[in-house]
Amino acid sequence: MERLIAYCGLDCAECPGRIATVNNDEALRAKTAAAWKAAFGFPLGPEGVNCLGCKADGVKIGHCGECGMRLCAVARGAEDCGACPEYADCAKIGEFLAQVPDARANLERRA
Ligand code: SF4
Ligand code: SF4
Repeated sequence: MERLIAYCGLDCAECPGRIATVNNDEALRAKTAAAWKAAFGFPLGPEGVNCLGCKADGVKIGHCGECGMRLCAVARGAEDCGACPEYADCAKIGEFLAQVPDARANLERRA
């Protein structure tokens, strides 16, 4: 499968929100909205499930729209947080990666 690694290390290619957007899948939009509303506690309906990925232009979903790691990496011109000189000492990415080990693996998997 294609990999679309976000600035934080999430793989947007695996995100149900992006898959629903790409396929214009209303059932998956509804399922994703319900799941993320319950899991993350922010208001989200199926109409809000539209995103083509962290590094793509256009709207994002929920927290991804205001992600401090994304804004910071863009401002620094870093390919992602794993490519940032501050990576090892950055509390912002460190707190996130402590909860999402797969994202750490994606950021640290470099040729
Ligand atoms: S940026 Fe978009 S595609 Fe990537 S994880 Fe966030 S909502 Fe999903
Ligand atoms: S300072 Fe932290 S949040 Fe900003 S780009 Fe570097 S690692 Fe990411």
